Amino acid sequence: MAERKTPPQLELFNSMTKKKEPFQPRVEGKVSMYVCGVTPYDFSHIGHARAYVAFDVFYRYLKYLGYEVEYVRNFTDIDDKIIRRANEAGETVTSLSSRFINEFLLDMAELQCLPPTCEPRVTEHIEHIIELITKIMDNGKAYAMEGDVYFSVDNYPEYLCLSGRKLDHNLAGVRVAVDTRKRNPADFALWKAAKEGEPFWESPWGRGRPGWHIECSAMSAHYLGHVFDVHGGGKDLIFPHHENELAQSRAAYPESEVKTWMHNGFVNKDDQKMSKSDNNFFTIRDIIALYHPMALRFFLMRTHYRSDVNHSDSAMEIASDRVYYIYQTLYDCEEVLSKYREEAVSVPIPAEEKKLIDSHHSDFLDFMSDDLKTTDVLDGFMDLLKAINSNLNDLKKLEQKIEQQQKKQQQKKKQQQKQQQQPQKQPEDHIQALIALETEMKDKLSILGLMPPSSLAEVLKQLKEKALKRAGYTEEQLQELIDQRTAARKNKQFDVSDGIRKKLAALGIALMDEPTGTVWRPCGQSDLRNHD
Ligand SMILES: [Zn+2]
Repeated sequence: MAERKTPPQLELFNSMTKKKEPFQPRVEGKVSMYVCGVTPYDFSHIGHARAYVAFDVFYRYLKYLGYEVEYVRNFTDIDDKIIRRANEAGETVTSLSSRFINEFLLDMAELQCLPPTCEPRVTEHIEHIIELITKIMDNGKAYAMEGDVYFSVDNYPEYLCLSGRKLDHNLAGVRVAVDTRKRNPADFALWKAAKEGEPFWESPWGRGRPGWHIECSAMSAHYLGHVFDVHGGGKDLIFPHHENELAQSRAAYPESEVKTWMHNGFVNKDDQKMSKSDNNFFTIRDIIALYHPMALRFFLMRTHYRSDVNHSDSAMEIASDRVYYIYQTLYDCEEVLSKYREEAVSVPIPAEEKKLIDSHHSDFLDFMSDDLKTTDVLDGFMDLLKAINSNLNDLKKLEQKIEQQQKKQQQKKKQQQKQQQQPQKQPEDHIQALIALETEMKDKLSILGLMPPSSLAEVLKQLKEKALKRAGYTEEQLQELIDQRTAARKNKQFDVSDGIRKKLAALGIALMDEPTGTVWRPCGQSDLRNHD
């Protein structure tokens, strides 16, 4: 496949200019990217999964395009919530944050998110933060007040250039009492004086700790320099976090610049905004207890990164069903090809499949390079899977036919001419087609982080375990029902057997009657397959 399409120009939506732009990294072949990380005071929720899967897909695609990527994602390991939780739990701030950093990293590994090249913690960068605040003060854009340091928005006319807000709109959503010590109510803290019982660091303004926003300005500059290519995060970070970051960085170093600002959409639950108070807030752990992590990743990627994702049980069922279908098809293909893998197949890839694979490859590049249209990419897999299944079926039929012909041939040697009526494709054509289709499918799934870390057999087993858990059955209980149904069918009690099948289908379990007996697979709950 020497003449395969090369990737088109990558275009990304830039939140600063509010339009899609050709992506041109500052240094050829290299990309510098900073993505705001978590505040580790609890288990991470699906909103975090959404953001980090989105940037993981981008990171992986950049690597596929041949870029060397410097990907920095921080941990805000000092913050009001961490201090409060640590006090409640009677442990140190460091112990609590380290514990939840580890939990977060486990979640990321489950979701197949590659580790960034650098994962700095705020508490390891206090000196850089103090240096940066000093620089902002020296430039006359911040002031100290009783041990606190505030950024002065009045001395920074560009303030709010990212969100496009008006300064007086700022206070609309402010719930806390206005701090009268500030020169402008919109001024925000760069440094906070230590309160009784809080961890602190020594600084020129007394004992204290950094405000939230300053850390990302300090760490992005430290690792990536004042000008870098991509800054990402959830769209809720545009204001105030990114707006304040940008103001701080520029106030200290006017040459500071982020070439492309990327923001991902929210996660809603059953069309409602997720919130802890409404009790519709889901941790990644909650979700992967019932659904396979690869199904969660697939589900998140099924919506474009800039749109809001609507999380619901039925959407998760559909995603689980899809990944099962993908892995089952690839597994079947592996099983069949394992017989032939050693033999050299010299025929060319059949024209029909060659065309399909080339156009799949081309569409994949077009979609991904157009602001990462993963929805279309995932839908595009269906044609390849269909082609794999139809080749598997045809090959099986052909093998049976050839076997029969060989038997006949032995019986009647005279009728050799009969064999002239050959089918259009020979077994080796199907094998070659399957090898090429399988390669295309696996290559693209790998680029997207959708190839499971374990074998296909193992992931199918895990998907089945999750489906059983959701249905509320053990393997033994299910087998008991299957046996009851088999007995009912033998006794021609078809209303009973049909009832069992329908009941299971409604719980996400599809029964299939094979020559060797009844087997099952997970299915979308509305997906009532007709097998009786
Ligand atoms: Zn940040």
